[in-house]
Amino acid sequence: MRVLITGAAGFIGSHLCERFLKEGHEVIGLDNFLTGKPDNIAHLFENPRFTFIKYDVTNFIYIKGNLDLILHFACPASPVDYMNHPIHTMKVDSIGTLNTLGLAKEKGARYVFASTSEVYGNPTVHPQPETYWGNVNPIGPRSVYDEAKRFSEALTMAYHREHHLDVRIVRIFNTYGPRMRINDGRVIPNFIYQALKGEDLTVYGDGTQTRSFCYIDDLIEGVYRVATAEGIEGEVFNLGNPEEFTILELARKVIRITGSGSGIRFLKRPVDDPDRRKPDITKAKEKLGWEPKVSLEEGLRRTVEWFREVLKP
Ligand code: UDP
Repeated sequence: MRVLITGAAGFIGSHLCERFLKEGHEVIGLDNFLTGKPDNIAHLFENPRFTFIKYDVTNFIYIKGNLDLILHFACPASPVDYMNHPIHTMKVDSIGTLNTLGLAKEKGARYVFASTSEVYGNPTVHPQPETYWGNVNPIGPRSVYDEAKRFSEALTMAYHREHHLDVRIVRIFNTYGPRMRINDGRVIPNFIYQALKGEDLTVYGDGTQTRSFCYIDDLIEGVYRVATAEGIEGEVFNLGNPEEFTILELARKVIRITGSGSGIRFLKRPVDDPDRRKPDITKAKEKLGWEPKVSLEEGLRRTVEWFREVLKP
């Protein structure tokens, strides 16, 4: 296949490029480096099947030749990042989604949209199945991400209904692993950095809020299956690890795994921070035969090892 991946230099995007290249496909990567990094894809340039274009997807996109598949993965995804770039985040997941859908229509390509567990907002249903419509504050600080993703899902389905485009939506729950930016503000990079530096780990609120953390390799396997499966046009899939932990449990785990002498410091909880989050992955299990394999313990070990290398002077 000839595959276009937006957000190619990002954490998930770069792993996706790698996977599609490994499977023998041709990959064209797009990224404007707003939150992605050239370092994430530097090693891919020696592959003749990889092309990279530094580009902002909120502009009209022209790609020469055919395309079989488009994966729209561009977008700041850390709450800190999207709150620093609120308007651009909204543009990437409105104009950028429109542009990439238009391109998919033009090329007759299959389309995969990277959505998020944030479409469920602060959920009142637990765990969250794909059939839950969510509980999102439309004007809060997180709305720039949540509502843009929701708009993009609606637009993706509109292209499916009106133009019969073969679309699929993945709702990605908290994912972690090598190539996350150490300072991207998300909880796992923050905790690992703080633990390795011997600083106190910053737990927001009392740490009783929960998240379910999926290791990057598991997530990529899920996305690859959604992108390549037959007979799932117009469907949405939760992808995430259903093992749920409180943030305080996570902090203690990171301290133990790193062997750090760090303590814990409790700070103010961000506005509209969801209280709990855990995917119901029954649908992905049944239709794709997919479920995560890497435990939080093992995934954290691998991630810590990677961050240790990155932080070496
Ligand atoms: N969090 C924390 N300390 C940090 C960063 C995040 O306690 O240094 C908490 C945050 O309040 C949230 C959870 O960890 O409850 C996950 O936050 P993250 O930014 O990783 O992503 P989210 O799941 O909120 O999108």
